Amino acid sequence: MTLYCENIPYSHLAEEFGTPLYAYSQAALNEAFDGYTQAFAALNPLICYAVKANGNLSIIKHFAALGSGFDIVSGGELARVLAAGGDAAKTIFSGVGKSEAEIEFALNAGVKCFNMESLPEIDRIQAIAARLDKTAPVSLRVNPDVDPKTHPYISTGLKANKFGIAYADALAAYRYAAQQPNLKIVGIDCHIGSQLTDLSPLVEACERILILVDHLAAEGIFLQHLDLGGGVGIVYRDENVPDLKSYADAVQKLIGSRNLKLVLEPGRSLVGNAGTLLTKVEFVKKGEEKNFVMVDAAMNDLMRPALYAAYHHIEAVEQKNTAPFTADVVGPICETGDFLGKDRELACEAGDLLLIRSAGAYGASMASNYNARNRAAEVLVNGSEAKLIRQRETLEQQMANELDCL
Ligand SMILES: *Cc1c(COP(=O)(O)O)cnc(C)c1O
Repeated sequence: MTLYCENIPYSHLAEEFGTPLYAYSQAALNEAFDGYTQAFAALNPLICYAVKANGNLSIIKHFAALGSGFDIVSGGELARVLAAGGDAAKTIFSGVGKSEAEIEFALNAGVKCFNMESLPEIDRIQAIAARLDKTAPVSLRVNPDVDPKTHPYISTGLKANKFGIAYADALAAYRYAAQQPNLKIVGIDCHIGSQLTDLSPLVEACERILILVDHLAAEGIFLQHLDLGGGVGIVYRDENVPDLKSYADAVQKLIGSRNLKLVLEPGRSLVGNAGTLLTKVEFVKKGEEKNFVMVDAAMNDLMRPALYAAYHHIEAVEQKNTAPFTADVVGPICETGDFLGKDRELACEAGDLLLIRSAGAYGASMASNYNARNRAAEVLVNGSEAKLIRQRETLEQQMANELDCL
């Protein structure tokens, strides 16, 4: 038995494009996006795909064609959205450290909203908008202080996190923003963390944000939209993940008759399980204590195992009759942290292909050149067609910006 990406055997993808290779299923992207639009149909939300999960221009373009807006966290991501034909008017600018140049770029591009994360940012956006004689549409990212029960590195909505304005300070911050002549308050935002496996923190955050919405309305500060961020988890192994319909029903009930447009910023849950990292076994090294399967992908291609001890399912492309053995799947980088999976049962030998599953989100977008490795190629598979959407990097490209100063 051999494994396929849609209608194409992974072995064909490896032959044509080489390894390591990111392969994305277009059908899986569509299914994930439809999952949101169907579950939330009654609320007709604006779905703003979080570009940082996977910023490939073709992926952005594909989501734009499905009607998606975008959540960006840098000027670079805005440039990507615009280059891919995404709509600035459906683009939300999040992030704790927006530079003056980024704010000016986004104001000129006409983004839908700046999610402001601190008082000094309010001053900065006001000053730039005044200088450009523009009005900046803004909302405040409020930190609802609910525990998302996820990995500490990807929880963002606790008091101890750098993100957002503290819940207790939010009303005062809104009053302050409302006094700024070049800001127009259009919404409120929260994003409490990523890879959330429980629905309750998401619902609790919504509840707490709506209390603020009502306080603001009582003071004459009326909002057009409620942005609940992203964070919905996916199955990497055997996790329970929030059911989107239950999430939508809970949010609809909480919003009730309030006249608020819902905005969502999903990243991982739109692309994570649509992508696989295809890699080739270089060596199998059997030892007294441990066995190692050395592959040609590494932590520079997929950083999540090294960064968060994240689990990715790994399986052989061709099922074999040989006996499986337990091994760590590791890359060639000179770091003990360079592993893709630990203690996995695999039947494979040198030359075989392995799939590292659920690699569509925070995979290619976090890739680096560590150990002077070229970044992997990416393909988008649609039925029987595979389109190269990112060429494998070359050493010339890697070295192009370095100057000879000797
Ligand atoms: C990262 C991020 C998202 C997307 O999070 P996922 O967990 O990938 O859905 C959404 N909004 C903001 C502000 C983010 O930083």
